[in-house]
Amino acid sequence: MQVRSAVFVKSVADPSGLLKRPIPHFVFSGRSNVGKSSLLNCLLNRKGLAKTSRTPGKTRLLNYFLINDQFFFVDIPGYGFARVSKKEQEKWGRLIDTYLTDTPFIGSVFQLLDIRHDPTAQDRQMIEWLQQSDLSFRIILTKADKLSRNKIAQHRRNIAKSLGMDEGSLIATSSESGLGIREIWAFLNQAFEE
Ligand code: GDP
Repeated sequence: MQVRSAVFVKSVADPSGLLKRPIPHFVFSGRSNVGKSSLLNCLLNRKGLAKTSRTPGKTRLLNYFLINDQFFFVDIPGYGFARVSKKEQEKWGRLIDTYLTDTPFIGSVFQLLDIRHDPTAQDRQMIEWLQQSDLSFRIILTKADKLSRNKIAQHRRNIAKSLGMDEGSLIATSSESGLGIREIWAFLNQAFEE
């Protein structure tokens, strides 16, 4: 698919602001600093569209991007940052839960994990939530350029095993080298054909 237009639509902090437009939503989820903004920019080939930051925990809102006036990419708030109160964590949890439960057409959820590390307890919680839902989802491993080819294969295998998932369903990516970007687009194109 050719990205003809990619427009930031809005940021939402509260369930009352969620968009109900019945076009496919493709969701990008993952803890803060995992590389969500970088991946979105890389997929869309737009450098500054989704902000990237070196400070964990800055992406606190659910952000909608409208692509080709046809579907949304939705960056959902990072979880698991230490300096946020429990009350605020719960508020984010409710926002994500309401969004994923009440949105008319979620095409798929991409759950991002840093390829270098074991999934955290919160990553696992999110993945379990997705497994129990009816939503289609894929695991995306980020920052693969930080590992050698051998290590990429090894870490992918270990992460798949620890999640009890099929290794082939995990996509290793790098926003630096572009690894895996075509595979994500192939998956998206297929989702449109179904
Ligand atoms: P977000 O908080 O999940 O949106 O994460 P960002 O996209 O802001 O990335 C967090 C940090 O990781 C930034 O310093 C990025 O430059 C870096 N980063 C993100 N993706 C990659 C990648 O594929 N390779 C490398 N080497 N660094 C990355």
